[in-house]
Amino acid sequence: MALIVMKFGGTSVANVERIKNVARHVKREVDAGNRVAVVVSAMSGATNQLVSWVREASLLHDAREYDAVVASGEQVTAGILAICLQSIGVSARSWQGWQIPILTDNAHGAARIKDIDGRKLLARLNDGEVAVVTGFQGIEPERQRLATLGRGGSDTSAVALAIALKADLCDIYTDVDGIYTTDPRIVPKARRLSKISYEEMLEMASLGSKVLQTRSVELAMVYKMRTRVLSSFTAPDAMQATSPETWGEIGTIVCSEDEIVEQQVVSGIAYAKDEAKVTLLKIEDKPGVAASVFGPLAEANVNVDMIVQNLSSDGKHTDMTFTVQEAELPRALEVLKGVQKEIGYFDVKSSADVVKVSVIGVGMRSHAGVAAMMFKALAAKGINILAITTSEIKISVLIDANYSELAVRTLHSLYGLDKE
Ligand code: ADP
Ligand code: ASP
Ligand code: MG
Repeated sequence: MALIVMKFGGTSVANVERIKNVARHVKREVDAGNRVAVVVSAMSGATNQLVSWVREASLLHDAREYDAVVASGEQVTAGILAICLQSIGVSARSWQGWQIPILTDNAHGAARIKDIDGRKLLARLNDGEVAVVTGFQGIEPERQRLATLGRGGSDTSAVALAIALKADLCDIYTDVDGIYTTDPRIVPKARRLSKISYEEMLEMASLGSKVLQTRSVELAMVYKMRTRVLSSFTAPDAMQATSPETWGEIGTIVCSEDEIVEQQVVSGIAYAKDEAKVTLLKIEDKPGVAASVFGPLAEANVNVDMIVQNLSSDGKHTDMTFTVQEAELPRALEVLKGVQKEIGYFDVKSSADVVKVSVIGVGMRSHAGVAAMMFKALAAKGINILAITTSEIKISVLIDANYSELAVRTLHSLYGLDKE
């Protein structure tokens, strides 16, 4: 029998009725003889509510107290699920991050897991008890403070716990029945993939497909953890108990590239709406200018993504455009205003009405022309490209936000991803 980690996201635990449904999924596995550690998110909407209370209290708040507040959502669901399991005859207890412990660094609000000591938990699993673990949180050992892992972090909790427990499989239950070629809520013709490579999923996640948190995919890739995405809304008794033999029959498996037989050139399309564009007008066209712009931004911890520098028409001045996370735009503008004299630009313009659309596929390594096709199709729809970045397995374009759905749909059809 297998040792499995089952993770349930916000919509799957949105109320007590749904948590009872989750308990039945867990019971199915226990009845089949599997040892089970469950990782839960907060009820959907709960974390947003907690974050907004913190912001209402003060926009400039102590990050440690932010974590103390926002980690509480998971504590509620872990306790409720343990109660629901006990009431259907399944031995279970809840575990908070510090009780295991899950140790993190001190980057409060976006902490990284450093280590998980799985021994105490494993001893209880071996006694036949289900462990219900709070996702999204750990403890920073130096100050002994609660730390959270960044939004969507319960996925990372699940994969990290699976690695620490040397679990056979890590199942991420959510509100869709797998990973699709693009967000199925935007493109009804999106197709479920039965497998996707770690590399592609990593790009999809970091380019905006929030179905898995990026760090969870990184961890799964490094440790080769067998990870699957599937739906908690399938009736618990309509599903077979999990076993390594029948594992690939439902949902989507994230796995190594060489396990995928039929490789597409493009596997998926992602989009990210939380981008903002900054343009510096009339900066001097001379060596050292880029460093004078991006140095201060880096010092202020502003991540810059796409960069375009225009050709200079007079040989003296040029415009420079780049993107940052929308949430970091106010800070970026403040930094740039502070160093306007040193950089010597004329004016700065910004807009958050932009979206980054990306096509992803390991097949691009061996196929030319994917980008040209993309640009031509977008042009035919009258969509203007503001910036471009590429890597070996992806092409991203920045476009006006009004065109995001049209662009995603157009590209989805273009690369033959529409379901029949
Ligand atoms: P959970 O609360 O279970 O963590 P999330 O909302 O974080 O769930 O992730 C699931 C959602 O991700 C889906 O409802 C879907 O709208 C969205 N999503 C975005 N891109 C994809 C994709 N390529 N495949 C599947 N779902 C996607
Ligand atoms: N509850 C946290 C969030 O909403 C973590 C998670 O759901 O993965 O971001
Ligand atoms: Mg999520």
